[in-house]
Amino acid sequence: MNGEAALVEITDLYKYFPIRAGLFSRHVADVHAVDGVSLTIHEGETLGLVGESGSGKTTVGRLTLSLLRPSSGSVRFKGQDVTKLTSGEVRALRREMQIIFQDPYGSLNPRMTVGEIVGEPLKIHKIATGREAAERVKELHHLVGLRAYHVNRYPHEFSGGQRQRVGIARALAVNPSFIVLDEPVSALDVSIQAQVINLLEDLQQQFRLTYLFIAHDLSVIRHISSRVAVMYVGKIVELAARDDLYENPLHPYTQALLSAIPIPEPAVEARRQRIVLSGDVPSPVNPPSGCRFHTRCPVAFDRCIVEEPRLLDYGNGHLAACHLVEERKGEAPALTAAQK
Ligand code: SF4
Repeated sequence: MNGEAALVEITDLYKYFPIRAGLFSRHVADVHAVDGVSLTIHEGETLGLVGESGSGKTTVGRLTLSLLRPSSGSVRFKGQDVTKLTSGEVRALRREMQIIFQDPYGSLNPRMTVGEIVGEPLKIHKIATGREAAERVKELHHLVGLRAYHVNRYPHEFSGGQRQRVGIARALAVNPSFIVLDEPVSALDVSIQAQVINLLEDLQQQFRLTYLFIAHDLSVIRHISSRVAVMYVGKIVELAARDDLYENPLHPYTQALLSAIPIPEPAVEARRQRIVLSGDVPSPVNPPSGCRFHTRCPVAFDRCIVEEPRLLDYGNGHLAACHLVEERKGEAPALTAAQK
């Protein structure tokens, strides 16, 4: 387990989005986007959060930064519950907590030069003005591998990788300690992905940053994460140290996701057994009873349909929520902090 102090503590977090219909916008149902998530993110680590589209991982990221209010639960940042802050207090907190989005083009104002974009947070947070701000913008360009002359160019003049570097420079402008990276390399070519990931790793070491790295791609997550949490329809189903998760996945869903990653050695790839999941991810409006994965799980049994599995600790911080794992392991595993 990571011995570092907790920077972010997410406890029993729920986010339901109401669905309204009819003439009077009657509340008819809820999207169960996040359904009882508890996570701790330690100082200086990268926690990878992985799951298919609709798993709720992006909503967890936004709730963590107070970009959304939860239905219930808490998010503590350096001990302070950010879900209880006023909008003014949340704005002040933005200096510490930043986000980098998947689509660097969509998140950059096309009418501003990249110098203005990177310098904007310095103005908003009254960190620097005039010559001092210009120097800081140059320094930030250098840090992320952009050239000084790029300050006067517009986002459309840049490649996808360069635009993502602009997004990173803008996030770094306020000297944050925590950054949520929401699919930061998914829109980039594979060769460019590696460059951006390496840059993020270098910056993390240099500035002792803590990352919540959200992605659907398990290969990318493996490269950068210290620990990995797997989400399925609003819930964490497995959480472990990176190597533990990739070498000894406990949950059938994680096993299926890992079996789908191509292995570059043809001989190994030919011998490998793929677990093909049938059906689609269930709707978060009406999640399945019991274990949410039972409609697609190749080893589901009767108990899975009626009883929801608890997220239990099988040693060394390796958690899984699966009846089969619990029954196979025999001895009673430890309850996680959120269940005590
Ligand atoms: Fe499969 Fe049952 Fe485990 Fe869910 S609890 S993952 S359905 S075996």
